[in-house]
Amino acid sequence: MFGRHAASGLSCPSFYCDTCGKRIKDVGMAGVSWDWLKPKGVKTSGYKKRDYPNLKVWHKGKCDPKQPLWEELWLFIIQICYNSNILKKTKNGFTIKVPAHIRE
Ligand SMILES: [Zn+2]
Repeated sequence: MFGRHAASGLSCPSFYCDTCGKRIKDVGMAGVSWDWLKPKGVKTSGYKKRDYPNLKVWHKGKCDPKQPLWEELWLFIIQICYNSNILKKTKNGFTIKVPAHIRE
């Protein structure tokens, strides 16, 4: 899950483990998993299977929920940035695209 923690007087966005509830400080030691079960209360009409993947983030090891569909959290974050048009592929690798209204 997403959350925020305080650091140097700032409120910083972070991931929190869905198993133990502690903050994930090293994304290299964490995973994200999902299933395609519809959450309770979500109406089926108008939704497709991809609309409710039930994402969970967790520390590797004892917090791993052992779901068959998972990947490294660091890779998941990069994919979100790429699919959200923040990370752009270039011929030499990737670059970060900062929205114009933030650059000014
Ligand atoms: Zn944990």
